[in-house]
Amino acid sequence: MPGFELFGELERKELSDVLDNGVLMRYGFDAMRNGHWKAKELEKELENKLKAKHAQLVSSGTAAVSIALAAAGIGAGDEVIMPTFTFVASFEAIMMLGAIPILVDIDDTLTLDIEATKNAITLKTKAIMPIHMCGSMANLDALKEICNANNLVLIEDSSQATGATYKGKPLGSIGDLGCLSLDFVKIITAGEGGAVLTNNEKFYRNADHFSDHGHDHVGNDRGTETHPFLGYNFRISELHAAVGLAQLRRLDEFVSIQKKNYSIIRDALSGIPEVTFRTVPKGGEESYSFLNFFLPDLDTARKVSSAFKENGIDACFHYYDNNWHYIRKWEHLKNLKTLYPLSPEVKEGLAYLKDKTFVQSDHYIGRNISCLIKLSWIEEEVKNRAIKMANIINKTCS
Ligand SMILES: *Cc1c(COP(=O)(O)O)cnc(C)c1O
Repeated sequence: MPGFELFGELERKELSDVLDNGVLMRYGFDAMRNGHWKAKELEKELENKLKAKHAQLVSSGTAAVSIALAAAGIGAGDEVIMPTFTFVASFEAIMMLGAIPILVDIDDTLTLDIEATKNAITLKTKAIMPIHMCGSMANLDALKEICNANNLVLIEDSSQATGATYKGKPLGSIGDLGCLSLDFVKIITAGEGGAVLTNNEKFYRNADHFSDHGHDHVGNDRGTETHPFLGYNFRISELHAAVGLAQLRRLDEFVSIQKKNYSIIRDALSGIPEVTFRTVPKGGEESYSFLNFFLPDLDTARKVSSAFKENGIDACFHYYDNNWHYIRKWEHLKNLKTLYPLSPEVKEGLAYLKDKTFVQSDHYIGRNISCLIKLSWIEEEVKNRAIKMANIINKTCS
């Protein structure tokens, strides 16, 4: 990861197709396009590859999450359970609809803790949204059971784990809805873009219309289409879809390169008694986009993280001190810093965050180091890196 490391002829060819006929929009202009429908083609291939009945491409992963929630009828005052460790997009997407993000502790899977999830359910809860962080996944069977028992919608965010599977099924196709991102730093990229996956006919139709001003997409004259309900513009362009198409066809190749590089580093660290690895739920197979491990305590993790940086081991993150991915640094959320007035429901619904502590999440994120696995490394480079990392950890722990 990310897929842009290996851009080449395939991406260029798909992009040229679009520029050659000049239709940059995904809908309409049938006569001009010479048969090129990159967004439609990418949706078909996503459905096949990720084993979902329907895929709806949209403008970003953040938009995909908002659209998935809207498609399931979730909005003002509804509560959505999400983990304390994720990208800021998760709560942004929930709040855009006037819904309330309920943050819940994670465990050693680095995703939703099952007991904490159960305890967070109230009469207002409408959905549970596991975020499959850093190439691995939440315990989806357990979450499915909770959703079934409480009549809740399960929305997977697999933006960081496209290519990973759970019990043989691609992530994103297991919940009622799945979301993925094709932004510039993801395993397959379109530059910007995202997708909503679902096996539910109604959710799909809702996502399709909602992401294009409520257009019903019946017939081939946009001017005469009806609007069964309000929507917005979250469309992807043909230029982005073209690049995404070339990249999706390389997903297996990318996962296998990552697996090879990941394994070399993991093997080098697995002999160190102070190192433990993130738990992958039974039946899960990672996308190998990151290698995640725990050190004995926060202080050691901080020292190892700095020593990595000082010694040229780049792209390893200690999320406890990073302001994008963990609750600890989300002051703008805790203090509700918005440009515009929030509804009383959201203000009241988020008041709990002002002084809530997440001791269990701190216990895992404080000790975690998450190393990005690159596609462009050559074997020699990975081996040297692995030895260097092991030496630094051994030295810090001794
Ligand atoms: C990248 C990401 C998103 C948002 O995707 P964008 O395409 O950048 O809007 C959402 N969730 C997670 C977990 C992500 O990593």
